Amino acid sequence: RQGCCIVTGASSGLGLAAAKALAETGKWHVIMACRDFLKAERAAKSAGIAKENCTIMHLDLASLDSVRQFVDTFRRSGRALDVLVCNAAVYLPTAKEPTFTAEGFELSVGTNHLGHFLLSRLLLEDMKKSDYPSKRLIIVGSITGNTNTLAGNVPPKANLGDLRGLAGGLNGLNSSAMIDGGEFDGAKAYKDSKVCNMLTMQEFHRRFHEETGITFASLYPGCIATTGLFREHIPLFRLLFPPFQKYITKGFVSEEDAGKRLAQVVSDPSLTKSGVYWSWNKDSASFENQLSQEASDAEKARKVWEVSEKLVGLA
Ligand code: NDP
Repeated sequence: RQGCCIVTGASSGLGLAAAKALAETGKWHVIMACRDFLKAERAAKSAGIAKENCTIMHLDLASLDSVRQFVDTFRRSGRALDVLVCNAAVYLPTAKEPTFTAEGFELSVGTNHLGHFLLSRLLLEDMKKSDYPSKRLIIVGSITGNTNTLAGNVPPKANLGDLRGLAGGLNGLNSSAMIDGGEFDGAKAYKDSKVCNMLTMQEFHRRFHEETGITFASLYPGCIATTGLFREHIPLFRLLFPPFQKYITKGFVSEEDAGKRLAQVVSDPSLTKSGVYWSWNKDSASFENQLSQEASDAEKARKVWEVSEKLVGLA
């Protein structure tokens, strides 16, 4: 049978390119989990994704009710779940004030980390039931949350501190909107959320890989400087960032190629190792990359897991 793969945020950028790359093989049915149904439908059509190889389902990660509703809708579809890709993200680098999810969590961490945390915890049960030979749960990471790299050292750097803001609910009222309890900074909130994504992947691996055989992986697909992720940035940045990445850092990757990389992590028979953070070298060959100290701190991963469980109502 066709594999069934859920991709969150498949209405643009990396998610859309990966959905296209997977659907094109004919081996995958892609569930495009998107907050804007019409946008997703138009995007699928203009990318040329055949209707029989995809289903669009509504998911707004900035609302835990919506996450639960999505899981119900998926279950009622009667499909088995073989691969889940947590790809959607928001990045608000120029925001002066925090904005919040339906439950009142700062929007970047609330969407990128907490929404996906609940989604993947609930859907793990569905993946366990699937008889697919190579089941995978993939969380898209980023170099920017990784302080052992050049890009990860551009201030403001990711730093989760002692998690006091997260433990307080990130609501900007009786707790800070930032995980470490500091002043709001939109660029840092995004980087922090990506560190949470990478810690979550490793904690999943430690808790569930042996028992379930599921491969848990993260990846940095390269700098896809043209995607909507940078839509909130100032116009000059959006003009100069793609050529800067192309000619100066040479980290630039097209949306199409990045999509193929993500599709590789979904289905390539050679990428089944669990607990790995994949990257690609200049010749576009995949390799197991090192995470920063904070992004590979097992004690911090456990704490983020436990605090997140409370915030999303699992504990
Ligand atoms: P895009 O902005 O193009 O795509 C992000 C997607 O997430 C969109 O489909 C967007 O939906 C969706 N999304 C945002 N908020 C929500 C929500 N509340 N509920 C559901 N979906 C939501 O950016 P990219 O393709 O660049 O980003 C994809 C992933 O790649 C992210 O995890 C990002 O961190 C990562 N990444 C990107 C890099 C880059 O250079 N671009 C580098 C490294 C990692 P909508 O279309 O409705 O806005």
